[in-house]
Formats: sequence, structure tokens, C-alpha cells
Amino acid sequence: MNQRRRSHNVRMALGEFELIERFFTRPVRRAVLGVGDDCAVLAPAPGMQLCVSSDMLVEGRHFLSTVAPQRLGHKALAVNLSDLAACGAEPLAFTLALALPRADEVFLQGFADGLWALAERHGIELVGGDTTAGPLNICITAIGQVPAGQALLRSGARPGDELWVSGTLGDARAALEGFRGTLDLPGTTFAALRRAMELPEPRVVLGQRLRGVASSAIDVSDGLLGDLGHVLRRSAVGARLDVDALPRSAQLAALPATVQQECLLHGGDDYELLFTAAPVRHDAVLAAAREAGVAVSCIGRIEPGRELVVTDGRGQALEVKRGGFDHFKP
Ligand code: ADP
Ligand code: MG
Repeated sequence: MNQRRRSHNVRMALGEFELIERFFTRPVRRAVLGVGDDCAVLAPAPGMQLCVSSDMLVEGRHFLSTVAPQRLGHKALAVNLSDLAACGAEPLAFTLALALPRADEVFLQGFADGLWALAERHGIELVGGDTTAGPLNICITAIGQVPAGQALLRSGARPGDELWVSGTLGDARAALEGFRGTLDLPGTTFAALRRAMELPEPRVVLGQRLRGVASSAIDVSDGLLGDLGHVLRRSAVGARLDVDALPRSAQLAALPATVQQECLLHGGDDYELLFTAAPVRHDAVLAAAREAGVAVSCIGRIEPGRELVVTDGRGQALEVKRGGFDHFKP
């Protein structure tokens, strides 16, 4: 009998293990062992190194209670896939640690649907996790593989390198301001911006294509300037960045210039790849982007020294505040 019907007829509360079995257990194809034992067992290919990353999503902080469960399932995995992408890793497996206020089947079904749909698109398997009662909190750990020594790092940028970003920036932040009521957005604009915030597309294929092409990479999760700052610090270099060259959606481009600039530079939740590459790799970057089916834009250049200079399209330096989002700083 169909699971949904049975639980309906019997009206039994969903227990922890039934919940795991029903929503989060599927046969694994690449892992040696998935859900059901004390550990999952993985078998990375010979000569590969593992890349491991965790991201936690807390209600009210990383997502709003208004988000559809399906989109939440998508986003919880997407932000982790984005970290694998930033390292140029091929996704292998992930674990899911969940705190749930209650075993709400409608929520769980939507959440699981969004999660599995994205997982299947990227060939990543759910191999384990933990489930507990508590305030809604989702922590995924994603594991990927790269050929030994080829992971893209934040520390590889060199003076003279071109600075690139994928996709467009700023939409998620504009949507957040729409929710907060600080921006008055027409209905269709808000829907499109909200989609960008709730359904980010991790640049997994682009990240892998950039191995051996990019000199450094990071994913933009806390705002462009903040994340660029991490690359500059780890690489001990400076940069020049042209605000007018920053790629933006038609929706964002229709908003006031000051709002655009704030969202583009400080927005966060973009999950685009920010990367550097030597100028001789310019065409290789464009080829990688074409193969991945993602637009990329050259937005500046890495410079000697440690300074970050933000300019307009005419090269005029702009006064902008520095840094990205920090959970523990106002
Ligand atoms: P243990 O007590 O040994 O840590 P659990 O009883 O917590 O194991 O979990 C039983 C099995 O279910 C384990 O294989 C664990 O990885 C898996 N599991 C628990 N929660 C989840 C979840 N949310 N998603 C996927 N697998 C899960
Ligand atoms: Mg155990």
C-alpha cells in the first residue's frame, strides 16, 4: 500500500525512524553504504582528494518562515553544492542533520521533494544524517572529489589576474529588502527576485570546468566585497573592481542606482562563483562558461599591494563601505 495512504488510515504519529526511512532513504549507487548503519561508507576514486563542507540554515536567520518547504529543501542543499563548486569538486555524497519542531508530513514531503530533485540533478547521494526534535534547523555536509592537488582555493590570486563572476548579483538581497518592507517592489519584480533568493542555482559544472583555468575561487554567499576580501587576504594581493561592470538582472537594473550598488556589493545569498584567472586564460574562462551554460563577466583585476579600489565605469574611485555579512557584528 502506498505510504501516504497507510499513514492516513492508521493516523499514527510519524516516528523518528519511520520519518528517516520514508523521506530520506533511497538506494545509493556510488557510495558503498548509505543510510541505516552507524556510518556511511564512501569510495572516492583512486587519485582523488575529498572536499568537505558544512552549511547550517537556521529559521529566521538564513530563511524566512514564509518559504515553501520545497524551496527550502532545494536551498539547503544548493548552498552546500555551491561550496563544492567553489573548490571545483565533483559532488559525491551528503549528510543531513535536521532539527524539526514536529514531524509535519506536508512540510517533510515538500522539503524532501526539493532536496531530492536538486540532488538527482547533480548526482549527489544522501548517505546519512541525524534527526532530532527542536527549533527548525538544517545542517548539510557535502562531500565531493577533485583530482589530487587541483582543488580551487582562495589563496591562488596573483597580480595581473582578471577578476570574474558568474551569473548576476544582488537579486537575493533586493528580495530580502522587499520582505523587510524597505523596498517597494511591483509584484512580478518581487516574484522574480524572491525566486533568486529561494532557488539559487549552484555553479557546480562551472567550478569543475575552471580547474586548471582559474587561479583562485570562492562562492559569493556573504556579499561580493566581503567574499572578495577573503580572496585578497588569503592571496596577499589587492584588486580594482568596476561597479558598472557588475552583472545584474533586468529586475535589479530597474531599481534606484543606490539600491543596486548596495545589493551588488554587499548583498549576499548570491551563490555565484567569484574567481580569478591569468589574462592568457581569458578565452579558456569563456569556453568553460560556455560548456557550463553559465554567463561570466570580467569585473576587475588583481593588483599588487593589499588595497581594494572600487571604481565606476570611467575608472573614478568610489567611497564604499567594506566587508560582507558577519553574524556577530552589527
Ligand atoms: P546513530 O544513533 O548511530 O547516530 P541514528 O539512529 O541517529 O544513528 O540514525 C540512523 C541512521 O539514519 C544512520 O545511518 C543515520 O546516518 C541516518 N539518518 C538519521 N537522520 C537522517 C536524515 N535526516 N537524513 C538521512 N539519514 C539520516
Ligand atoms: Mg551509532
